[in-house]
Amino acid sequence: MLTIEGFKQALRHAQSEIEANKDTLTDLDRAIGDGDHGINMSRGFDAVAAILDDEYASLGELSKKVGMTLMSKVGGAAGPLYGSAFVKAAPKFGDATEADFALVKEALEEGTAAIKARGKSTAGQKTMVDVWEPFLDGLSESDDFTSKLDHLVNETEGMLATKGRASYFGENSRGTIDPGALSSSIVLKAIMKEVD
Ligand code: ADP
Ligand code: MG
Repeated sequence: MLTIEGFKQALRHAQSEIEANKDTLTDLDRAIGDGDHGINMSRGFDAVAAILDDEYASLGELSKKVGMTLMSKVGGAAGPLYGSAFVKAAPKFGDATEADFALVKEALEEGTAAIKARGKSTAGQKTMVDVWEPFLDGLSESDDFTSKLDHLVNETEGMLATKGRASYFGENSRGTIDPGALSSSIVLKAIMKEVD
């Protein structure tokens, strides 16, 4: 079960992991972007951490607040994408104060759909979608979430970027892991850790 407290814990954990990987995210984005992804995500998750001491009546209310915060604080391309994922997941959680594995999966599927709609992107374009979509595809409670996510992140390394800033690098976009794929794996790992 994912409780409100568990969701908060996941977001705090995400914040500390983003902080620990800030330079890596920035280095990846320096190679195939403009070098701000670590800075953007760190600013956004610091702002999320700051709203976690408030009281929330439901998982939906918390998810919406997280999304709005990310949308206004992350910036770049990733801000509206992460923001819409949590905002659109919110109605799936609705008034629930705890969610079982199936509900968490459905909420994250809504999040994936929101990222794809906002980014006008599909799997195979070397973006965060290449983590979110295949991670949820056929996801089962008995999966090893960490190794599935690590595998998907590594798979982006050889891909050709055809969306976002990395696409300007053409063939040179190959050979670098997508920064948004890495940050997505950090966020998803943190959430999945609290679903038990
Ligand atoms: P910006 O590219 O504006 O500098 P960030 O560096 O914060 O924004 O985020 C870059 C990440 O956003 C990429 O690594 C990629 O995963 C993701 N991204 C960019 N554009 C799209 C898109 N259209 N659809 C999905 N993800 C995208
Ligand atoms: Mg960038």
